[in-house]
Amino acid sequence: MKTFKSTFEQYNWDEIQSEIYASTSKQVEQVLAKSTRNLDDFLVLLSPAAQPYLEQMAQECHELTKKRFGKTIQMYAPLYLSNECQNICTYCGFSLDNKIKRKTLMDSEIKQEVEVLKTLGFDHVLLVAGEANYTVNINYFLNATEVIKNDFSTISVEVQPLSQEEYERLHEAGVYSVLVYQETYHQEVYKKYHTKGKKSNFDFRLDTPDRIGKAGIHKIGLGVLLGLEDWRTDSYFNALHLDYLQKTYWQTKYSVSFPRLRPAEGTVPPNFIMDDKDLTQLICAYRLWNEDLEISISTRENEKFRNNIIPIGTTSMSAGSKTNPGGYVVDPQSLEQFEISDERSVAEIANIITLRGYEPVWKDWDRSYK
Ligand code: SF4
Repeated sequence: MKTFKSTFEQYNWDEIQSEIYASTSKQVEQVLAKSTRNLDDFLVLLSPAAQPYLEQMAQECHELTKKRFGKTIQMYAPLYLSNECQNICTYCGFSLDNKIKRKTLMDSEIKQEVEVLKTLGFDHVLLVAGEANYTVNINYFLNATEVIKNDFSTISVEVQPLSQEEYERLHEAGVYSVLVYQETYHQEVYKKYHTKGKKSNFDFRLDTPDRIGKAGIHKIGLGVLLGLEDWRTDSYFNALHLDYLQKTYWQTKYSVSFPRLRPAEGTVPPNFIMDDKDLTQLICAYRLWNEDLEISISTRENEKFRNNIIPIGTTSMSAGSKTNPGGYVVDPQSLEQFEISDERSVAEIANIITLRGYEPVWKDWDRSYK
């Protein structure tokens, strides 16, 4: 059966990279003059040649986002279920070779964490876990979904790649969206960072969004871990993936996230630095290419950047996040996956969104409408 892999194999990393860096200001001006844009245009908007046009790009990005999404920001919080993991990913605090205490939340602990998130006002939760097949598997995820399903109208998951049948079961159980990041589309570099465990299989991960799409999940979230490879080339491949998925599973909604590599215990520093201006350019390029794409900004990003990016393309934001299992109340000292950057309270972030003239939205839809 056809999957993204057959599209991906038609492209060469070095050629795409050369094309991005050879783009000219004349090409940028031609792309900016268009009213609809394709992937070739996205490539030009990613280029260094587009940086002097950032102000113009940000203005259009703001207008397009306002037209499609209104002046709203969807609010969500991650709920880390487990830091057990059988993979070695050299940038992650949960990596198997990191000798730390492991923890997987029990039902009663999940409920305690949920109580805190509900008190803070959240109605959209993102369940996150490492990849430990004996303990944190499909049965565990189905049970966790059952435990929390009456407390949240939107449940998203960011867990290990699963089979199509397992995604179908999650969909049945009430999971609304699934996030899976390729981390990097550079195959050799991928091998270097993912040295052991199921995640070292590049192709299985690459075809995961196809399995999610076939299972009928409402929304798929993609992204690359910014800092592993050249962000421009990696982002082009991420957009190529999105483009393929949107054409293949056209009833599904899509989101993109921009995780920049953050410090974590026992991990490697970024290989490529992406500054705030670069990230703003990337967000604008996505929006100018794709008006329907949801754009998510997490607490990995710093306060100043998050404040400024609210009116420039953003459609959802996390707040008050903890990246360790039990981090809200059960076990605040357990190992975190990475250090968050924006440590402000949920109320402070909601207030900033309001001051920017936007409305923080806690409940997007009701499952009874599905
Ligand atoms: S990135 Fe995911 S799979 Fe890799 S070590 Fe961390 S939790 Fe495990």
